[in-house]
Amino acid sequence: MSNFWSAVVRGLTPYVPGEQPKVANLVKLNTNENPYGPSPKVIEALQTELKDTLRLYPDPNGERLKKAVGEYYSVQPDQVFVGNGSDEVLAHTFLGLLKHELPLFFPDITYSFYPVYCGLYGIIYKTVPVSESFEIKIEDYHQPNGGIIFPNPNAPTGRVLPLAAIASLLERNRDSVVVVDEAYVDFGGESAIALVDRYPQLLVIQTLSKSRSLAGLRVGFAVGHPELIEALERVKNSFNSYPLGRLAICGAVAAIEDRAYFDQTCRMIIRTREDLARNLRNFGFEVLPSAANFVFVRHPERDAAELAMALREKSIIVRHFKQDRIDQYLRITVGTDDQCAVLCKALEQILGIKR
Ligand SMILES: *Cc1c(COP(=O)(O)O)cnc(C)c1O
Repeated sequence: MSNFWSAVVRGLTPYVPGEQPKVANLVKLNTNENPYGPSPKVIEALQTELKDTLRLYPDPNGERLKKAVGEYYSVQPDQVFVGNGSDEVLAHTFLGLLKHELPLFFPDITYSFYPVYCGLYGIIYKTVPVSESFEIKIEDYHQPNGGIIFPNPNAPTGRVLPLAAIASLLERNRDSVVVVDEAYVDFGGESAIALVDRYPQLLVIQTLSKSRSLAGLRVGFAVGHPELIEALERVKNSFNSYPLGRLAICGAVAAIEDRAYFDQTCRMIIRTREDLARNLRNFGFEVLPSAANFVFVRHPERDAAELAMALREKSIIVRHFKQDRIDQYLRITVGTDDQCAVLCKALEQILGIKR
């Protein structure tokens, strides 16, 4: 704490991202990155963009990317907002659409960045408990609120709501914005983008970090009614007019256009997830049903923090949250088949399982 710090900075509790260790040969299953590289067409597109035009500012509006997203999801470009990772899109959403007199609602077990944005922007919020089995109960959101936000599938549980449940929430909640954070939707959920033409209060946010293997490029987007998008543009143009560089725009467009590679890698991850879940259940773990690229698991006889530590000694990193209700769980990213085999072998040793 320094006297030079502003009152706002003194009051912040920043988000702590999963670690990015600099050690080689780690089996890194802690931050839900995609184990497969980006589409070869992305690499090719980036190479063609590496030229003297880098001296020029990029298109401030990322129109090419808005058009690509619009074509992929059959929406108009003015229904699309693009930003520097979905974390930035979320930040602008909190300030531009979710800061009101009534509290913002989100689940008690969810993406831990949400309360951080509330702290940064002075937004009052109320957490709504998920059920014993970690399901979001939409009936609990039928109360006056300043906005609602949740990931679908939820993080870090992997549990998914059907589109019908989201539609029913939107039917009952017409006076405030409902944000669905779809960071993991491509691994087993149905996108609520299908509902944006029917519900002007719905904003759907997605990222290219997970299902399109571009966490390092930093691209996210939002889809909703043009009036919601305009609010985000107003915040963006009061903060940073050029959130996406030339490389980010051109790589993201190539990733969205290569549907075949995307479909194939998503399918592989889903198949590996189901194999991994089966193996973990055989080892005695409770495995929540997951529609994401991770599994959320608990061993009834082993302390989660100790398991995470034992795995780390074998150079395998998983995520453990020291948080009420989930401190006996581990979140394990679905890697390649080979990475999951290494994980399972290590767990056999740690748990003393004989084959
Ligand atoms: C990973 C993640 C994000 C952030 O994605 P970026 O686009 O990399 O900033 C947002 N929401 C949830 C729920 C996530 O898990």
